[in-house]
Amino acid sequence: MIFRSTRGQAPEMDLSGAVIQGIAPDKGLYVPVEFPKLEKDWADYAAMDYKTLAAEVLRPYAGEFTEEELKACIDGAYTDKFEAEDVVPLVHAGGADFLELYHGPTAAFKDMALALMPYFMTTAMAKKQEDKTVCILVSTSGDTGMAALKGFEDVPGTCIIVFFPDHAVSPVQEQQMRTATGSNTYVTSIFGNFDDAQTTQKAILNDRPFGEEVGALGYRFSAANSMNVGRLLPQVAYYVWAYAQMVKNGRVKAGEPINICVPSGNFGNILSAYYAMQMGVPVNRLICASNKNKVLTDFFHTGVYDARREFYVTNSPSMDIIISSNLERLLYHLGGCDDAAVRAMMDSLAENKCYEATDAVKAGLSGFAAGYATEEEILAAIGGIYASDHYLMDTHTAVAYKVWREYAQKTGDETPAVIASTASPYKFAAAVSGAIGLPEAEDEFAAIEALSQASGVSVPYGLKDLKSRKVLHAGAIPREEMKDFVRETIRGRQ
Ligand SMILES: *Cc1c(COP(=O)(O)O)cnc(C)c1O
Repeated sequence: MIFRSTRGQAPEMDLSGAVIQGIAPDKGLYVPVEFPKLEKDWADYAAMDYKTLAAEVLRPYAGEFTEEELKACIDGAYTDKFEAEDVVPLVHAGGADFLELYHGPTAAFKDMALALMPYFMTTAMAKKQEDKTVCILVSTSGDTGMAALKGFEDVPGTCIIVFFPDHAVSPVQEQQMRTATGSNTYVTSIFGNFDDAQTTQKAILNDRPFGEEVGALGYRFSAANSMNVGRLLPQVAYYVWAYAQMVKNGRVKAGEPINICVPSGNFGNILSAYYAMQMGVPVNRLICASNKNKVLTDFFHTGVYDARREFYVTNSPSMDIIISSNLERLLYHLGGCDDAAVRAMMDSLAENKCYEATDAVKAGLSGFAAGYATEEEILAAIGGIYASDHYLMDTHTAVAYKVWREYAQKTGDETPAVIASTASPYKFAAAVSGAIGLPEAEDEFAAIEALSQASGVSVPYGLKDLKSRKVLHAGAIPREEMKDFVRETIRGRQ
C-alpha cells in the first residue's frame, strides 16, 4: 500500500515511512491511495476474535510487514493490556449499541491506537534501518497524552515529549500524565489552549533547521497525534469489529446498514469509521457529534469551516478543539484526491482561520449527519440512561448519545446505531456522579470512589491508586518555550 500526502507535494511512502515521518514534509497528512475491500463473509468476521479480525483489516495497509511481524504487533498491543476479555465489548443500552473502546491502560479510546502504534514504529524503524532515536512529540487535549506515554514507555529507540494545556484537562488526566513512569517520558503543561499546543508542535515538526540540529545529536522527530496514519488505521479495525458483532448479536442481518455516531474533536476517530465504510462496512449515516465547540457541526451544515469563534472549556475536554486536523483527510477523499484544492483550503485556514469547502467536498458531506450537545444536555443524557438502563457513560460518550437520539427523532431514521464510547465514566467521575444524582465529592478522586460504590461498576486498573502516585513531571511553561523544552530534553539525554 502506498500512502501519499493530502497536499500532494511530498514523496509517497509505504506504511513504515509514513509512520516514522508522522506528518508529511509539505505539511499534509498521509492517506492511503486506495481503500482495500473486505473480502470475507460477515459470518467469517463475526467468528473471529478481536486480534484475528484486526490483523485481517490491517493486512492490506501494511504490505511491507510480514505475516509474523503484523501478528507480533497486534499481539503485543492487545494481549493482557485490555481488561475486557474481547478487547472491545459492544453493550446494548438506551436503544443503541455502545462500542466500549475504553478498557485499556488509560481508560480512554486512544489506547486502542496507541497500544499498537509503538509496535508499528519499532517494526518500521527496523525495516528502514533507522539508526536515530525517534522523539515523539505529542500535544494533547487530555487523553492522547497518557495513552501515548503508556504506549511508548521504555520502548527502545524512542523517547516521548507531551505538552498539555495548563488547567484545561481533567484532574485525573493531569495526575495520570504528571505521574507517568518510564525512562524515556517527558511531560509539561503549557500556558495556552490545545490549539496553541498543537500549532506550536506542528511548527516544531516542520522546522527544518531545528530538525537538523537534533539530527546531529542522533534524534529525529515524529508525531503520535492522529495526524500520524499509524494512529488512524488501528481504529478502522474496531468499526469492522463493531459491525461483525452487530451481525453476531442479531442486531442486523449481514449487509444491512448501521448508523455510527462518534463524539469528535480532532476528527480521527470518525475518520476511521469512514475508512471502515469505504472498505465495505455497511453504513447508512456517519453522525459527527460535537460539544459546545461546535465548529464541526457548523461545517457539516454549511460547508464553511470557520475557526473565528470563542473557545469553551467544557465537561468533555477531549473534544475542546477548534482546529480539527483530520478533517483535512476527509477533504482530500471527498474531493476526489484533489490535493491542489486541499492546499487552497488549508492555506485559507492558516491565513484567514476560515475556508469554504469545494463543491465536490460539499456533495460528499451529505453522507454525514452532525449535531452538538451543551454541558447541561450532556449531564441530562448521563442521568437519563443511568436511570432507565443502569448504564454508566462518560461525558464524551454522552455527547454522541444525545446527538444520535436527536438525529433519530428528527429524521425518523430507525437504522440500528453504534455509539463510539470513548472514555470510562471514571475518567470524568465528578461530572458523571453529579449527573446521576450523587452528592458532590471532595475532589475527583473521591468521586471515583463514590461512583464505584453507588454503581457497582469496578474502577479501571489504570485509575486505581492514582492519587497516591508520585508526581515526576511538575513543569508548566509558556508556549513560546516549547521548542526550548524539546531542545533541553534531548540535550539532557546525551
Ligand atoms: C480524543 C477523544 C475524543 C475525540 O476524538 P477525535 O479522534 O479527536 O475526534 C473523544 N472522546 C474522548 C474521550 C477522547 O479522548
